[in-house]
Amino acid sequence: MTLKMPGSMDECIYFTRRKLENDGKIIAWVYRKTCPECGEKMGKPIDEKTGKAKVRADTFECPACKFSEPKQAHEESLNVEIIYTCPHCGHSGETTTEYKRKSWEGVKAYVFMCEGCGKKIGITKKMAKGKK
Ligand SMILES: [Zn+2]
Ligand SMILES: [Zn+2]
Repeated sequence: MTLKMPGSMDECIYFTRRKLENDGKIIAWVYRKTCPECGEKMGKPIDEKTGKAKVRADTFECPACKFSEPKQAHEESLNVEIIYTCPHCGHSGETTTEYKRKSWEGVKAYVFMCEGCGKKIGITKKMAKGKK
């Protein structure tokens, strides 16, 4: 498997870079979904007044044909693509996992399994650290 890193944030609805303990690291992203109706890239609906995406909207929409899909169904049909170095065994690899948060060590995370040691690694929401 060879994953292609997105060339720009505009191609993604999710992108994160994380540093883990023991020199582990994760780069993960989710590409925008291709509209099943017309093949354009879908995204959050655009506010016609401001021209900006309505990030809090609970739907995703195709800008070309207006095909729309509930956020949850849309996201669950996508995959997170991941390039990682495992913090447990040092294995570097690539994998994909469902774009759906699961329980992992007591928090919600996108979870994938290291191909080297089989341990589960979670991509949690933003680090709780540093929040004031
Ligand atoms: Zn479309
Ligand atoms: Zn490992």
